[in-house]
Amino acid sequence: MEEIKLEKRRAERNAQIRALFPDVHGDDSVFAGGREAALSALARIDPPQYDRSRNFLDGKVTRLSPYFRHGMITLHEAASLAVQKSGARAYKLVFEFAWRDFWRRVWAKRGDAIERDLEVPKVPVGNAPLPDDILNGTTRLACMDQFVRDLRDVGYVHNHARMWFASYVIHHRKIDWKLAADWYYGELLDGDRASNHLSWQWVGSTFSSKPYIFNRENLERYTLGSLCATCEMRSRCPFDMSYESLELKLFSNHGVGA
Ligand SMILES: Cc1cc2nc3c(=O)[nH]c(=O)nc-3n(C[C@H](O)[C@H](O)[C@H](O)COP(=O)(O)OP(=O)(O)OC[C@H]3O[C@@H](n4cnc5c(N)ncnc54)[C@H](O)[C@@H]3O)c2cc1C
Repeated sequence: MEEIKLEKRRAERNAQIRALFPDVHGDDSVFAGGREAALSALARIDPPQYDRSRNFLDGKVTRLSPYFRHGMITLHEAASLAVQKSGARAYKLVFEFAWRDFWRRVWAKRGDAIERDLEVPKVPVGNAPLPDDILNGTTRLACMDQFVRDLRDVGYVHNHARMWFASYVIHHRKIDWKLAADWYYGELLDGDRASNHLSWQWVGSTFSSKPYIFNRENLERYTLGSLCATCEMRSRCPFDMSYESLELKLFSNHGVGA
């Protein structure tokens, strides 16, 4: 009931904005701003359910990141509530909160260096510029194009989708991770230099011991097949192979992959 009321208010607000500014496109954010909205999002966390479902695109993730990013709530508040609600079953959620803390500590120590390779890449990576089909979400891969729409239209992307997308950009398309990270950062409502740039480096292997790659089976499992079902490239899916074959394809030479 409350959600229907909120949705109605949002629709009314969008209509007013469009009437006042006819040249402006798109809708306002699906995230309500402010401390009150942050606290109600925080009250809805369900740590055990998070643990079971967080890797699924429709899983019970918290969507708290814009509130952390803009200082509406603190990690300490969130972790305390998680433990108060679920005790030891809050472990996985608190563990994920700790990633944010860790990335920020690395940033505090290394400063602007996080915007360059922190380590030598463990596999060949490229330095291609960002092409239009990535920027516009017109790769014809239903998954990647959907992730770009989430980014541009909502400013929020599920963690697993961010990992798949960054892996596609860096390892399949051999694009310079720094260009991709700067663009991504600018589009996200939760854009945070530490979590963003260091996560790109983690996927790329310049701040981890190996690159992050995925195959179609993994993506299909955690999207419940919803994106592959409508993909015009499903019979030519670049991810449809074993991890051994992917490694050979992506890393045995420095060419641009599919
Ligand atoms: C390529 C890439 C770019 C990213 N860019 C950002 C960014 O700019 N800003 C940002 O806040 N996060 C970033 N992340 C981390 C993570 O994807 C988001 O924090 C998370 O998806 C936010 O959604 P949520 O609040 O629903 O997360 P949940 O899954 O509900 O997690 C709860 C909280 O734990 C923290 N958290 C969870 N996973 C991570 C993680 N892998 N790294 C750091 N903190 C995490 C976040 O504060 C998050 O709000 C990025 C990850 C990748 C792979």
